[in-house]
Amino acid sequence: MDDARTPTEKANPGGASIASASAAPISAGGENANGPQQLRHGHELPFVAPSSYLRPKPTSRTMPEKTASSPLDKEQMQGLRGIREFLKVRTSYDVLPLSFRLVVLDNDLLIKKSLNILLQNGIVSAPLWDSRNSAFAGLLTSTDYINVIQYYCQFPEEIDQVDKFRLSSLREIERRIGVVPLETVSVHPMRPLYEACRRMLRTRARRIPLVDTDDETGRETVVSVITQYRILKFIAVNNEQHTMLLKKPVRDIGLGTYSSLATATMGSSVLDVIDLMVKHNISAVPIVDQNFKLLNVFEAVDVIPCIKGGAYEELASTVGDALSRRADDFGGIYICGEDDRLDSIFDTIRKSRVHRLVVVDDDSRLKGIISLSDILKYVLLFGEEEDDIRQVGTMI
Ligand code: AMP
Repeated sequence: MDDARTPTEKANPGGASIASASAAPISAGGENANGPQQLRHGHELPFVAPSSYLRPKPTSRTMPEKTASSPLDKEQMQGLRGIREFLKVRTSYDVLPLSFRLVVLDNDLLIKKSLNILLQNGIVSAPLWDSRNSAFAGLLTSTDYINVIQYYCQFPEEIDQVDKFRLSSLREIERRIGVVPLETVSVHPMRPLYEACRRMLRTRARRIPLVDTDDETGRETVVSVITQYRILKFIAVNNEQHTMLLKKPVRDIGLGTYSSLATATMGSSVLDVIDLMVKHNISAVPIVDQNFKLLNVFEAVDVIPCIKGGAYEELASTVGDALSRRADDFGGIYICGEDDRLDSIFDTIRKSRVHRLVVVDDDSRLKGIISLSDILKYVLLFGEEEDDIRQVGTMI
């Protein structure tokens, strides 16, 4: 993390300011995409007290009323309709690469061991398999590890037990910490991709397993897992003729969340940040300095290396320390301004591995956050006719 890296990408044909920064935090004096960003260690920045404002659940900006009056509006709607039609004629199976590897974990595996497997394979989730009943048993994600951490915090005297938990104990852990279990959704790979998207939005799942049934045995088979990222990438790569019509600035279409943002500082403890993610039901917390300048983003998946080897006590360490444990190939933090347009965001998704964009002003001050679910929601639902919604309601 010593190297002061410059933005790895600028995907802005029209001057839109979308840039990616590296894993190193952006310095307090760094410029945003209007100029090169100076990146340096967050630790060198003045710390402020851990964020103490656990605000109420953030609400996304309400999407503006459909006013398809100007040529820009009409073009935007044309683009959205084109993408929706595309999603209706493609299947989830189409999103899968020609060749891929799927790591499926046996439900009997120790949770502790599953961490190493995910880290060794460079993945952040895996389908679970119940080998006793030969059945799909759900999806392991960073949320499960966050639940284990909450369990550890609520029952610290049971630390010895935590190490002995198996993946099959995850549901019991949820019950003991009082978490409402997530609905286990899956889709058939040959169903329209549009259906998988609607299901993701309905359940707030960021990834869905594709489950098929073996013709001969009648048993379930997990084919793969599709994520919001994969779907948006698929749209970006294969549907440029429609994404290029999305020329309205994110400010005008109300894309993302701009109020009650959950933030933390480099000096906050990892536990504080996990607490924020749980309370707000979010997967990332922007890390800011005392002037609200963006330094980095702590993501739910950053929790995984923190508890590797059962080192739960390290959760008391700072966000700055935790972020320094990120893998060398970490893709970076993506930022944009409120004047950026969805077409250039799709451009960035086409070229890079983007999981969210942090909206900043010209002084790198945090303004908002655009998650992939915000983009998916806008692409699928904005201006959608009531009739369409009813029609799809029967599909999901
Ligand atoms: P995500 O967890 O990234 O799928 O985001 C779920 C919703 O929460 C989206 O509408 C985001 O815009 C919003 N969101 C994501 N991160 C934050 C945050 N740190 N503070 C407030 N809202 C957020």
